[in-house]
Parts: sequence; C-alpha cells; structure tokens
Amino acid sequence: MPSTPDHKFISETFPAPVMPACSIIKLLKGQKALVTGASSGIGRAVAIALGHAGADVAVNFVSGPDAAEEVAAEIRRCGAQAITVRGDVGKEEDVEAMFARVIAEFGTVDVLVNNAGIQKDAPFHELTLAQWQRVIDVNLTGQFLCSRAAVREFRRRGVNKEISCAAGKIICVSSVHDIIPWAGHVNYAASKGGVAMMMKSIAQEVAPFRIRVNSVSPGAIRTPINTEAWNTPGAYADLLKLIPYKRIGEANEIGRAAVWLASDESDYITGTTLYVDGGMTLYPGFETGG
Ligand code: NAD
Repeated sequence: MPSTPDHKFISETFPAPVMPACSIIKLLKGQKALVTGASSGIGRAVAIALGHAGADVAVNFVSGPDAAEEVAAEIRRCGAQAITVRGDVGKEEDVEAMFARVIAEFGTVDVLVNNAGIQKDAPFHELTLAQWQRVIDVNLTGQFLCSRAAVREFRRRGVNKEISCAAGKIICVSSVHDIIPWAGHVNYAASKGGVAMMMKSIAQEVAPFRIRVNSVSPGAIRTPINTEAWNTPGAYADLLKLIPYKRIGEANEIGRAAVWLASDESDYITGTTLYVDGGMTLYPGFETGG
C-alpha cells in the first residue's frame, strides 16, 4: 500500500463484504422486535437483518408507508412475520399506541431497536430553540419513551427461556458523536451524548430483571441522512481522511451488529457501546504518528 493512500483506489479495492440474504442460522428465532425509523437507511437494514435472523419485526415509520411496507415485504420473503406501525417516537401518545399495537399483533416485544434520528444543523450562534428541541425530542426523548415502554413489557413478561436467556434487549442506535464533539451539530451531538449516559443508566437499573441495554454507535454509514458527505468524489475523499479503514460503512453492517447484540450470543453484555466506525473514534489525525 502506498504511504500516501489513494483513497479512490482503496475504496474500490476494499468494498464492504457481501453476505447471503437470509441467514441460515436463525439466531433470533421466535423473538419479536420493534425497530423505530425503519423505513430507510440504517433502520431499514436493521429491520431486515433481524427478520433474516428469524425475528418477527414491527417496522415503525413516521411518514412514507410504502417504503415501510416494502421493508416488511422483504422480511416476509425470508419467512418471518412483519407489520408496519406509524408513530412519532417523540410523542408519548404515539409511542404508547405503537407498543399496544405491536403487543396486540405479536403477543409481546423481545427486542427494541431505538433507531429513529434526525439532524437539524446550524452554526451554534444561529441554532434556534426549535432546531435544538426537535432533535432532542426525536433522538433522546424518543429513545427514552420507547425504552420505558419496552422495559414495562419486559418486566411484565419476564424471561421465557424457550425464546431467550434475557427478558428483553434494547439496542440504542447512537453515533460516534456520543464521544466525538461535532461543531455545527451541537444539538445532534448533545442528543447522542445523552443517549450514551441514558443507555448506561437504564442498563444498570434493569440488569437485575435480566434486561440488557446496549448502544451501537455508527461512524459514517451510506444513508440519506449524510448524502452530501459521500455523493461526490471530493466529499468522499474528505470523508476518508476521518476513517482509518478507508471506506464508508454500509447500513447492513449495523444490521449485523444489532442481530448479535439482540441474540443470546451476547448475553453477558450490557451497558456497553459497540462502535461500528472503521476506526473513526481512533483519532485518525494521529494515523501517521501525529
Ligand atoms: P435516515 O434519515 O435514513 O433514517 C432516520 C429514520 O428515522 C427515517 O426513516 C425517518 O423517517 C425516521 N424518523 C425521523 N423522525 C422520526 C420520528 N419522530 N419518529 C419515528 N421515526 C422518525 O438516516 P440513518 O442514517 O439511517 O439514521 C438512523 C440512525 O442512525 C439515526 O439515529 C442516526 O442518528 C444514526 N446514525 C447514522 C449515521 C450515518 O452515518 N448514517 C451515523 C451515526 C449515527
């Protein structure tokens, strides 16, 4: 490899691995999952990955029912059940209605993936209260409301050993910006920093009930939320300066991490954050010795 890496060369030579569609080993067989914001991007990929691993999946969306239905159809093709559920995770009444519907349809919920998230970027001195509040409402309060509803259901049901060692699993989709400050995105970074400490505190409190709570923190993943960071060669080259592994991540790579955290394969893991980021949190500025 050249000492000054040719980013285009590297990105084309090392694409993300391609995995078979339907997993042969159904790690999540019999489990019922709810994925928020699942009609696009990472949520879509997580919902499909859970379905391919054998879980029945509720696909939450806030707008665009057709895209959510398309995700559900993909899950059904692998033999699992799937339903679509409209709801704004930032609104308590929507979250309560969403859980009631999923429990009515599936009988219970075993896995919650708190994925829904938004960005409303502005230089700090121009950041409005509305931009601050909406991002906190969706990214942090949304995860609180959904986690609380899930914990209530997990505690009500308890452990069903035929389904899982745990009474329930919560996976918070956070971000490398729960640890890396992000100028121009103060509301977003604050929301994800909040998720990090909320996740750990819930994990500590509910562990005795055999409920596991963890985060997956993606780096740069190719989705609609960050199109401008990868859709031109110049932007992509700049992005790769922040990624020691020298490629962008793909949404299904977060899906595979979520399947593992939802499964009994990770039964002793709670209160932890799994960074899926190609090394973005490794201080890439020091890549060549600092
Ligand atoms: P995305 O825009 O494709 O997905 C976000 C989803 O959340 C959309 O489906 C959207 O409709 C949904 N949503 C927005 N507001 C909602 C609400 N109030 N209620 C319910 N759903 C709502 O972007 P993405 O990249 O797939 O983002 C998914 C998650 O991953 C977010 O939490 C984001 O912060 C996080 N993340 C993404 C990246 C990345 O590089 N793409 C990196 C780090 C973290």
